[in-house]
Amino acid sequence: YGDIEELKFGAEVGKVLSLVVHSLYTNKDIFLREVISNASDACDKLRYLFLSDQSLMEAGEELRIVISVDRDRRELTIRDNGIGMSRKELIDNLGTIASSGTQRFLEELKGDKAQGCDLIGKFGVGFYSVFMVATNVVVESCKAGEKVGYRWQSSGDGVFSVSKIDGDVSRGTKVILTLRENEHDFLDKFRIEHIVTTYSDHVGYPIYLITSDGTEEKLNSGVAIWTKPKDAVSESEHMEFFRSISHIGSNPWMVIHNKNEGTIEYINLLYVPSVKPFDLFHPDRRCSVKLYVNRVFITEDNVQVIPQYLRFLRGVIDSSDLPLNISRETLQNSTVIEKIKASVTRKVLTSLRKKADSDPASYKTFWENFGPVLKEGLCEAMDTESREAILSVCRFYSSNSKEGELISLGDYISRMKPGQEHIFYLSGNDLESAMRSPQIEEWSSVTRVDESDLEKFTESDDQGKKKKKEKKDADDAQQKENVDAFITYMKKVLGDSVSDIKVSRKLTTSLVCLAVPEHALDIRMERFLREQKQ
Ligand code: ADP
Ligand code: MG
Repeated sequence: YGDIEELKFGAEVGKVLSLVVHSLYTNKDIFLREVISNASDACDKLRYLFLSDQSLMEAGEELRIVISVDRDRRELTIRDNGIGMSRKELIDNLGTIASSGTQRFLEELKGDKAQGCDLIGKFGVGFYSVFMVATNVVVESCKAGEKVGYRWQSSGDGVFSVSKIDGDVSRGTKVILTLRENEHDFLDKFRIEHIVTTYSDHVGYPIYLITSDGTEEKLNSGVAIWTKPKDAVSESEHMEFFRSISHIGSNPWMVIHNKNEGTIEYINLLYVPSVKPFDLFHPDRRCSVKLYVNRVFITEDNVQVIPQYLRFLRGVIDSSDLPLNISRETLQNSTVIEKIKASVTRKVLTSLRKKADSDPASYKTFWENFGPVLKEGLCEAMDTESREAILSVCRFYSSNSKEGELISLGDYISRMKPGQEHIFYLSGNDLESAMRSPQIEEWSSVTRVDESDLEKFTESDDQGKKKKKEKKDADDAQQKENVDAFITYMKKVLGDSVSDIKVSRKLTTSLVCLAVPEHALDIRMERFLREQKQ
């Protein structure tokens, strides 16, 4: 090797490393899943670049992942012939917090340090998980299109080194793990086979194991999971695939897997998580459904294949109707994308409606997680058809329902009293704060008054009534003067921050309430738009 340069991990990576290594990890097997998933991503990236640069690999060359073991040196090697990494990429990607999963992990960690160990299991920390089983890690890589390779090395103790590899190198990446003394299990053929079939069977590239007699044995089916017939995908396969693309540790709440034939051909394998992804309310409202064209990965976030109000979905859309050599930029304006988006949206909303009807209790969990996101669609969807479909899967609390019960607008309408002309609604962050809202005092207090109480107020003596009325008018005039003076004063104090101040007869216990002018934006909507910087 040439000159060796020693560098330090970013401070935060150092923290993650020690957590990974020193926390008793309950499932060490997953390090192999992480390394294989990186190798598969690297093959995806190469296959995409190959579309516009045919010099990057041989036509017809098989993209593959190969595992080999060296018992004497206690080494486990995972090799791929994907895109590879340049020297800079080795440093940037393996030495700093580049991975989305790790980034989220750290953000969460800031909130609750004690949960650290749990969290590692929940997200997986990508590449760094290799330090759970290895004392020394070497990554040798040669970037597609380049002739020199570089070698990255670290013992997970806070520093890593990078050096140039002398001699011949071939495109791709080799991860060489020197296993800890008590981890030699991972050199065992059956152990490796078991881990690969359990966690990585869905990987769309063949994964080979070089056996002791030197032959290659294929461990996975090598068929991308979404291209299989719906019934041929087991629950555990879905689970593992979902985990690997979402970094979410729990089972998906719902799987939406369809092969669509007709005017537009595409496959969708989409998952609704059972918990909120961390970036759900991030202002950029990023969607993370991956777009493939004929099994070639195109992009994850440059092209919107699903509307933003469905951004809780994770998964894959693969179409054969898009030209392969299309650039990511022109894709966004493609009418095919628009059609796929419309069709997928319909499918997802239909699936949600079926679930809402068939299992309202489970749907409640979904609604609590993602209802606020879905409701954005009521303002955002351009066509009435989508808006109505969204509305049909929306659920609401009603002042007339059992506590905590959610109902649909359809339910509400079907139980409206004859002659009811209006539906009043109130928006709020949660039921409790909505119930505290001064705007509904008038109604909520009405329901508290008993009919027998009302009788006590009815007067039988007409004369008495008249006298009382005269007295009341005089009082009212005096009161009006006071109130007018008060309002003039308040207007002076509040100035431009309000557009008007009015007397309300609706309040029973509160002194004031905020109201929006007629035809103006709803307060919460305005707040939402402001948060989105619109
Ligand atoms: P993530 O996969 O979530 O991005 P990882 O920690 O698993 O995070 O990997 C960090 C980065 O290192 C990857 O994003 C990728 O850029 C790079 N990388 C890791 N393994 C490989 C590989 N086999 N080939 C090319 N790049 C890789
Ligand atoms: Mg990874």
